[in-house]
Amino acid sequence: MRFTVWGARGSFPTPLTPRAIQSKIASVVQRIKPSDLVSSDARERFLGSLPPWLFGTTGGNTACVQLELDDSRQLIFDAGSGIVELGLSQLRRDPAPTEYHILFTHFHYDHIQGLPFFPHAFNPGVAVHFYSPVEGLQEILSRQMQHPWFPITMEDKMSKNLHFHRIPPEGVEIYGHRIRWRELNHPGRAFGYRIDQGERSFGYVTDVELREKDFQRTEDNAAFFENLDVMIIDSQYTLDEAIEKYNWGHSSFSLAVDFAVAWGAKRMFMFHHEPQYSDKKLQQNVQSARWYANRIGGTDLEIQLATEGVTIDV
Ligand SMILES: [Zn+2]
Ligand SMILES: [Zn+2]
Repeated sequence: MRFTVWGARGSFPTPLTPRAIQSKIASVVQRIKPSDLVSSDARERFLGSLPPWLFGTTGGNTACVQLELDDSRQLIFDAGSGIVELGLSQLRRDPAPTEYHILFTHFHYDHIQGLPFFPHAFNPGVAVHFYSPVEGLQEILSRQMQHPWFPITMEDKMSKNLHFHRIPPEGVEIYGHRIRWRELNHPGRAFGYRIDQGERSFGYVTDVELREKDFQRTEDNAAFFENLDVMIIDSQYTLDEAIEKYNWGHSSFSLAVDFAVAWGAKRMFMFHHEPQYSDKKLQQNVQSARWYANRIGGTDLEIQLATEGVTIDV
């Protein structure tokens, strides 16, 4: 399996501001030495030496993660604004996929707002399957495409080849793989997903304000959270901000580290980035998260920022 992050921001899309771009360019220019410009190799070396927060961005699109199974079939988690770019990228594939499976954690705007612009939902030759453990999925999704909030409706303009599935308690099988879910502590409910394929396992655990209950070693918790090769986890806030925003439904990155260490995750991807945090601030957070993991004995845990456009093998 491998996954690609198409959107990792929480709450609302956050394109880079003109000021942020100017500041990145100014910082790069200040770092250049004459020897960095002597040849194309030197220039490449210089660009390669820049920190990722400077020569790039974590990205501003809201939640969307694509999981490619080993047999080149794929699942999509959430349809935040990142799904638009994902949809466009699939138009360039040859042969183009003829079906999509999209699983929703919940229906806050940052997890559905890209759906009205997902091109494949308009193509009758492509089957699009939607999944959620909640009842009334079709109505919930079509409600965001209504006048006066949107010019066209799902019923009139999207294809008739859309399929809505309520996931039963035991999970759902897609392409022969069982996908399990678990309710998370979030205002109005959200659901995490886990998929195991052979020896490998992948967990998409957002949006969640982690509680003591999530750390308890119950059979249910262990079956869902334990020993994930990849845990994508809500790490929206610093600890200070999480205390200030108690009950907002998101976790501090340090609590996310505690959680990943407690459940023996191998790799943790900080996700649902706070829209107010710059690329530099997010980079500082991931460094602090690594320092904290070491301090609490989680030396085997690898921690990364979920970054738009990056594909990772599970
Ligand atoms: Zn969210
Ligand atoms: Zn939410």
